[in-house]
Amino acid sequence: MESIRTIYKIGSGPSSSHTMAPKRAAELFAARFDQKEKPHSFRVTLYGALAATGKGHLTDVAIMHVLESLAPTEIKWEPRTVPTFHTNGMKFEALAEDGAVLNDWVVYSIGGGSLANEDFDESRTEEIYPHNTITEIMAYCFKNHLNYWEYVLRYETDGLKEHLEEVWETMKASVERGLVTDGIIPGGLNLRRKAGEYLIRSKTYSKNVKSRGLVYAYALAVAEENACGGVVSTAPTCGSSGVLPAVLYHLKTSRDFPIRSILRALATAALFGNVARTNASISGAEVGCQGEVGVACSMAAAAANQLFGGSLNQIEYAAEMGLEHHLGLTCDPVCGLVQIPCMERNAFAAARALDANTYATFSDGFHRVSFDQVIEVMKQTGHDLPSLYKETSEGGLATSYTHLKG
Ligand code: SF4
Repeated sequence: MESIRTIYKIGSGPSSSHTMAPKRAAELFAARFDQKEKPHSFRVTLYGALAATGKGHLTDVAIMHVLESLAPTEIKWEPRTVPTFHTNGMKFEALAEDGAVLNDWVVYSIGGGSLANEDFDESRTEEIYPHNTITEIMAYCFKNHLNYWEYVLRYETDGLKEHLEEVWETMKASVERGLVTDGIIPGGLNLRRKAGEYLIRSKTYSKNVKSRGLVYAYALAVAEENACGGVVSTAPTCGSSGVLPAVLYHLKTSRDFPIRSILRALATAALFGNVARTNASISGAEVGCQGEVGVACSMAAAAANQLFGGSLNQIEYAAEMGLEHHLGLTCDPVCGLVQIPCMERNAFAAARALDANTYATFSDGFHRVSFDQVIEVMKQTGHDLPSLYKETSEGGLATSYTHLKG
């Protein structure tokens, strides 16, 4: 299995697959031309799920932002053409004045902000772990008396601590910015940012309800930042970027866990996310929201359980429940915006991660269905889901709620 590092990518929202990766693809294509050999214009064709929800996700804005500084850019939308390599296809073409194609490049946004095509795969780096499943990893950890985070440290190369520190600072900053920013979220649904209000209201309640209200506020803060194009860290994607920060921020501020424990929790969370990415997918366009918010919940549940001193089995159990109870979750963003149901869904998943932690803590950690089995089921379920429910905005809430379309 490859490094856990790319589970956390820092960049601008609202979507790792629809903005972060296309923006970088545009930068890579633009780098083929120097000032003297600038093309007359660019044409970018978006396919499949990238075209279906690209407008709401601001894919065109992200690409134009890069290419328009070099030459006029036309964006073409072809949602009905679904490439076999991956549904999120992009074709970049540099054109001469007479329309002749000077240079072209087809690339795919494969989830979590990574790019790939037949020649390369950014999500695939050097294999540094000898194991690919949590079952194998747990057996190794038992044998060698390691916790999951120690396992990660054993195989990762230098610089991991600095990377996790930067990720934590980004997560913390996105929570804190989101809590003090109000206004309307762009896109046309005219949703108001609510994180600050949830924070204030939560403080008027007694202990348990207050605690839950704070978790909602923190998750909404990041999800709203993401929807507004703010800087977030994927965990494992932009659309699901509020879940893990909400849980960690809540536990850090309410229990005063030291930074080193938070960084270790981030390492363990990424390990579970990485196994999900390796053996299934973290792309909503490929497996639906179970691969985004479901995996995020699983990561946050593992992190929380480790912070409270859970055993290897209890941490695995918490992670398993975080995902099992999101199996089948569809991706049906209204108007293609990462807002409804995405933002609330982050808040609910953060709360559910804490429930999974509590549930696992009350157990001895032994249970029937393993995390690895749930990953397999997620992959199969995602494969069986019609494309209507995989980031195309052609089914579910996206078609029943037509506020903008009416
Ligand atoms: S429904 Fe889930 S997978 Fe789809 S855009 Fe929203 S957060 Fe991402």
